[in-house]
Amino acid sequence: SEPSNSNFLRAIIEQDNKKGTYRRQGMPDVITRFPPEPNGYLHIGHAKSICLNFGLARDYSGRCHLRFDDTNPTRENQEFVDTIIDSVKWLGFSWEHNDTDYLNYASDYFDTLYLMAEYLIEAGHAYVDSQTAEEIAATRGSFSEPGKKSPYRDRPAAESLDLFRRMKNGEFPDGALVLRAKIDMASPNMNMRDPVIYRIRHAHHHRTGERWCIYPMYDYTHPISDALENITHSICTLEFQDHRPFYDWVLARLTETVTLPDGRIIGGFLARPLPHQYEFARLNMTYSIMSKRRLIQLVEEGVVEGWDDPRMPTIVGLRRRGYTPESIQLFCERIGVAKSDGWIDMATLEASLRDDLDPKAPRAVAVLNPLKLVIDNFPENLKDMCSAPLHPHYPERGERQFPISKELWIEREDFMEDPVKGYFRLFPGNRVRLRYGYVVECTHADTDENGNVTAVHCTYFPDSKSGTPGSANYKVKGNIHWVSAHHAFQAEVRLFDRLFSDPHPDAGGRDFREALNPNAKAVITAYLEPGLVTALPEDRFQFERHGYFIADREDSTPGKPVFNRIVTLRDSWGG
Ligand code: ATP
Ligand code: MG
Ligand code: MG
Repeated sequence: SEPSNSNFLRAIIEQDNKKGTYRRQGMPDVITRFPPEPNGYLHIGHAKSICLNFGLARDYSGRCHLRFDDTNPTRENQEFVDTIIDSVKWLGFSWEHNDTDYLNYASDYFDTLYLMAEYLIEAGHAYVDSQTAEEIAATRGSFSEPGKKSPYRDRPAAESLDLFRRMKNGEFPDGALVLRAKIDMASPNMNMRDPVIYRIRHAHHHRTGERWCIYPMYDYTHPISDALENITHSICTLEFQDHRPFYDWVLARLTETVTLPDGRIIGGFLARPLPHQYEFARLNMTYSIMSKRRLIQLVEEGVVEGWDDPRMPTIVGLRRRGYTPESIQLFCERIGVAKSDGWIDMATLEASLRDDLDPKAPRAVAVLNPLKLVIDNFPENLKDMCSAPLHPHYPERGERQFPISKELWIEREDFMEDPVKGYFRLFPGNRVRLRYGYVVECTHADTDENGNVTAVHCTYFPDSKSGTPGSANYKVKGNIHWVSAHHAFQAEVRLFDRLFSDPHPDAGGRDFREALNPNAKAVITAYLEPGLVTALPEDRFQFERHGYFIADREDSTPGKPVFNRIVTLRDSWGG
């Protein structure tokens, strides 16, 4: 495997390790987490975050947690939890460390988060606001103007505490009250202008059921979840940079203790060292969209056939298309991690796939656009076997056998009645080698009443077979693939291409559906090398000259595989 792409996070971790910032009894120095919200399917952008977080943990002998950020009950569900778990596993990562499963849910912390909120109220760091959402939004101010303090900001802590408890007990409808952190309404950072940390939502939660009718906000939940899990480096995307002061504020408040007027000492929930948030650039990839909202639209409007449609940039879609976990990991290594946004060309992902599959994928022959080739002098009943390496660079992997006979299927584009200059394949009078078989000389073609070629005729040279001494006497420039018409089997093959034909489908606020590539899926019936009939779901092959293909994991049945083209052999998009 290639050396890990060094990045600024590695430099930070190595500094911390040298200083011993996170050296704690019985704990690794590096603990990261991947924190998806279970409100959709993971996509290639998430894969970048997964490979980064799990990869850093692996490389520094640490651990990485899978944590569901499930604080938004109306948008989340178990289906999404399950697919996310599957996708992370499939990508090759595990959240197990020393026999402990670090699969966590923010909802596991609801009780703790609640107690901490009560503490913040008592310590004077939070208050219940009775303003409406509209009033709160209208008084936030702007970048050039400070916000206005809520008239409820200085209500006594005891009153806020009472209201907060009654919020929890279900005494108020959605939106009636919120709990806000009391920070600074004049802060140049809007996120510090008394952000809301709890809201009322009478909603069923996929894990906690009806137990709660108040839910903590992401910005409040996230730092606390990180601290409770002893996360060291909390890595998120750039848009959270402005949220970092609040992340640090929450952790600092929960680390302090406060002596109340009645002498009680409260607080001290957390101890140093505290997790630290770092931001990296999210993945933007050409010919693709990453927003969950838009991906949902594609599924719901039937533009694609589901979340795992092979054209989708979702992990389940990439898997169904034929991408390997290793190719996605390789891609993530190659693109590295930057501190400012940029675009990655989809060709980089496809190149990673080719580089991963080339040494792995056994070779096979498929005729996708068939034309009959008749070898007129081939004995009628001779079943003659040809042999080809499973992989040209690894002879030790052995050979595959397939018959040649009088009638073959070849590609329509391998014959030209009137050849253009430089065309070395079949045309009347020309010789080519039938790959792994004999040299043939084209004699003529049959045509229908419209002049369309219906069959090509040739004669063969019995002493020219590949691998026999006589073959050296034949020097030909063209080399074409074929399958025996009688022995080949027909299979459905889906030729997939990029979902969008524009590199920036949603540029300039345009409707991304206008950029859809109408040729992103074609379904054909192809003639395949006989041995492919036993292909199992998810077996991958290189169909010589055509590209990489996989037996579809959903639609293949025993003895009847259906193939998806994963990618062509070469980039045809000029990327
Ligand atoms: P969306 O905004 O489309 O709903 P999200 O970022 O909110 O996506 P989450 O489930 O919260 O989705 O994401 C989990 C993690 O994956 C987060 O840490 C987020 O930073 C990261 N992530 C999401 N999209 C990308 C991306 N395009 N590139 C890199 N990381 C990403
Ligand atoms: Mg989101
Ligand atoms: Mg998110």
